Amino acid sequence: MIDLHNHTPLCHHAVGEPEEYLARARTLGLREYGFSEHSPWMLQYDGEQIAPTDAEFDQYLDRMQALRERHDGTDGPVLRIGIEMDFRPEHAARARAMAAAFPFDHHIGSVHNLGDWIFDHPDRLHEWAGRDVGQVYREYFAAIRAMLDWNLIDIVGHLDLPKKFGHLPPEGIESFVEELLPDLVAAGVAVEINTAGRDKPVGEFYPGPAVVARLARAGVPFTLGSDAHKPSEVGRHIGDALELLRGCGVREVMTFSQRQRVGVRI
Ligand code: ZN
Ligand code: FE
Ligand code: FE
Ligand code: ZN
Repeated sequence: MIDLHNHTPLCHHAVGEPEEYLARARTLGLREYGFSEHSPWMLQYDGEQIAPTDAEFDQYLDRMQALRERHDGTDGPVLRIGIEMDFRPEHAARARAMAAAFPFDHHIGSVHNLGDWIFDHPDRLHEWAGRDVGQVYREYFAAIRAMLDWNLIDIVGHLDLPKKFGHLPPEGIESFVEELLPDLVAAGVAVEINTAGRDKPVGEFYPGPAVVARLARAGVPFTLGSDAHKPSEVGRHIGDALELLRGCGVREVMTFSQRQRVGVRI
């Protein structure tokens, strides 16, 4: 019923016009629908453009505002305009300036790289070989903690992304989340159930059921995102995500209006 994490072709690795994504959301009967385009400071790979340029990000904002003007007042989902802010510590000033310059509905914070390694990029999969998987998770969750210290995000994106290709730490992902929990609660951020993971080699949501149950017990708020990079992915597995949340006793999911949290009963 809500899906706040969707991309547009302006990031160079998604297809379909925003109007097609929104039309799909309307067909599915979603109540709230949000775009969250990658930030222009996302780490690029080998000269391959995998994020919007600054100029393209401006286009994204223009297109979103035009879309909102045409869409608001029609039936269909409430349209939310957000950003997926890449956590790269050296770009904190840019992130802050971006946040100040545009009244986003929500900021999703995501970690996609450790140093110059884009660990979720299929072309960099070979770089997992010979690594200590537990150490990768330690560095990853340290980055998540540092991202919370940015104090710029409303939603943690795909909380346990390093598991994408099936690399699981011997100590279990739950132990890392347990350690992060006080910071997560103190930061007051929501965690998305990112349903894209179900369609990746790991075959489960980010985060998976055990972590969702633990976060729910701690009272961490949740939101939902398909991370669609094409219109047919809009709303994928959202029904299953809602079932999972309900099974964990969660009664509402969060959506955001100009960064103010709004609860939606489930
Ligand atoms: Zn993407
Ligand atoms: Fe992401
Ligand atoms: Fe995304
Ligand atoms: Zn993503």
